[in-house]
Amino acid sequence: MTNEIWRALQVDLRQTVGDSNYSNWIAPLELASVDRGVAQFKVRTRFLGDYVSQHFGDHLLYCIGKADPSIKRLSFVVAAEQMRAQPTPAAAPEEPETDEVVGSPLDARFTFERFVVGKPNELAHAAARRVAEGGPVTFNPLFLYGGVGLGKTHLMHAIAHELRRRQPGLNVIYLSAEQFMYRFITALRDRKMIDFKELFRSVDVLMVDDVQFIAGKDSTQDEFFHTFNALVDGQKQIIISADRAPGEIKDLEERIKSRLQCGLVVDLHPTDYELRLGILQTKAEYYLAQYPGLVLADGVLEFLAHRISTNVRVLEGALTRLFAFASLVGREITLDLTQDCLSDILRASDRKITVEEIQRKVAEHYNIRLSDMIGPKRPRNFARPRQVAMYLAKQLTSRSLPDIGRRFGGRDHTTILHGVKKIEELRAIDSQIADDLELLRRALEA
Ligand code: ADP
Ligand code: MG
Repeated sequence: MTNEIWRALQVDLRQTVGDSNYSNWIAPLELASVDRGVAQFKVRTRFLGDYVSQHFGDHLLYCIGKADPSIKRLSFVVAAEQMRAQPTPAAAPEEPETDEVVGSPLDARFTFERFVVGKPNELAHAAARRVAEGGPVTFNPLFLYGGVGLGKTHLMHAIAHELRRRQPGLNVIYLSAEQFMYRFITALRDRKMIDFKELFRSVDVLMVDDVQFIAGKDSTQDEFFHTFNALVDGQKQIIISADRAPGEIKDLEERIKSRLQCGLVVDLHPTDYELRLGILQTKAEYYLAQYPGLVLADGVLEFLAHRISTNVRVLEGALTRLFAFASLVGREITLDLTQDCLSDILRASDRKITVEEIQRKVAEHYNIRLSDMIGPKRPRNFARPRQVAMYLAKQLTSRSLPDIGRRFGGRDHTTILHGVKKIEELRAIDSQIADDLELLRRALEA
């Protein structure tokens, strides 16, 4: 593995581990050497090396192994130890701590302007906007939660950008819970706890991202709790994010849970089709402005919004790759090109809707029993829903006609084909059927 390959891998890793993990743990890794199956990385501190090895070691090795199968093991050495033939950690000179910047750098792209608002995130967005106005503290903390890739970090950075823009003198600190722990442990080790406490108690706005990380880490939780209380008492705004609601974070102390619930708790819901399409359109406009030669065919963004999971990070990664690829090969971005270029992502995010699921949903929708849907009876009020289910099964699954037939009580494939054709015809002339199909498809793909 060369440095170039490592840098390219890093780009991929950013997608898989997430931006904050990436900037805290992966970006600082420097490839030092590759020798006899061992890739050696330089790290600033032993803690960093241990941490990366523990939490990302397997994943890193997996990704590196794909690029260079000869690599079987990773090792992390503190920069100062690296050249020594026989590392003797006990005697290793401590490196001077260089970075005095508190908190993590903000991503310049994570602004409110670039945040697309839709039903699933409108409440979180409104709350974030309110906090970003910087008026008197009305809810403390603001607790944002939701699944991975739904925009928590984006919103937090947006708040920080906005506050700094409005009030440049304000001491706004954003950091991940991991970094909070890292700083805390470093302060303990270096006997600088007083500095640590002063530092965190002197901020005006504190944002801690991914707080679920400190669950189960008792002394860090304890320190977090004290910092938190001191700031709340001082009327300072706190903004916290987590991947789930405060009450659902396991191994988080009760007193912390209840304090977290004291403010405003809002969640980011999984994206829906409209939001995904909105995000894709915004990003595509941006790319099209950047690569003026590119042509984007109709229907491509809609296709992606349907097919890709709720995680916006994956969605973005897909679009980035698609545009990069199209500009490299100089071709129009068509559905075919999209399917070729993104086959792995599309496969991975295939939700695998089953025929059974379709039958259940359709039966529910038309208010008939599942057994009537599958059974042999032929009255008209069963026949239409049955055909709708056959049509959706053909559209939304990769099952063959005979296969679908078997799942409809052993019907012949010609019966299925007939049903599919029938609905195709009706769809074009009967807006009620068209609406039903659209509704059902959405419910099934949600
Ligand atoms: P989380 O912190 O919840 O895991 P992020 O804030 O890191 O998610 O978001 C993942 C990616 O998706 C980021 O690049 C972010 O800019 C983008 N993103 C998420 N939600 C939106 C949105 N509503 N509009 C625009 N971009 C979004
Ligand atoms: Mg995040």
